Amino acid sequence: MIGSRVGIGYDIHPFAPPEAGRPLVLGGVTIPHPRGLAGHSDADVVLHAVCDAILGAIGCGDLGGRFPDTDPGNEGASSVEFLRAAAATMSGRGFKVCNLDVVVVAEEPKIAPHVPAMKDLIARALGAPEDRISIKAKRPERLGALGRGEGIACESVILLGHRGAIARLRALLRRG
Ligand code: MG
Repeated sequence: MIGSRVGIGYDIHPFAPPEAGRPLVLGGVTIPHPRGLAGHSDADVVLHAVCDAILGAIGCGDLGGRFPDTDPGNEGASSVEFLRAAAATMSGRGFKVCNLDVVVVAEEPKIAPHVPAMKDLIARALGAPEDRISIKAKRPERLGALGRGEGIACESVILLGHRGAIARLRALLRRG
């Protein structure tokens, strides 16, 4: 479609040891689990991958550039704030979400029970209907570091449409 943009995002974080007492936060949702992911912020791989897909689609660099882990202000930050900032940049440039597809790669814990809450949070932050957001989980079948449960990875792809282009297309279609 004219004015559409596609973006891809990927992130991976290792688990912190249980004694670190970090919560496991995925897609903005805190999931009961003995170990959380290690990272400067809340290490939410899902929202980080989604932010990078958005920023990539609009040619605005990446999350690490916008919110560097060298900035003490980002220490322990909620990645929901990163997502809201990326969404505001997207919207400010005239784009809206056509659809977002996310794959969480995790040997543990089970992701599926938490998908509805993640979708609700992401849809609200992006100002998109929930049926435009897809989140699914894949187990790495015990292969490699992810398969040994050493961390969690996430991939995402987003398609954005430009409001101006969509409006022009609708006007053209109305004119026949
Ligand atoms: Mg990250």
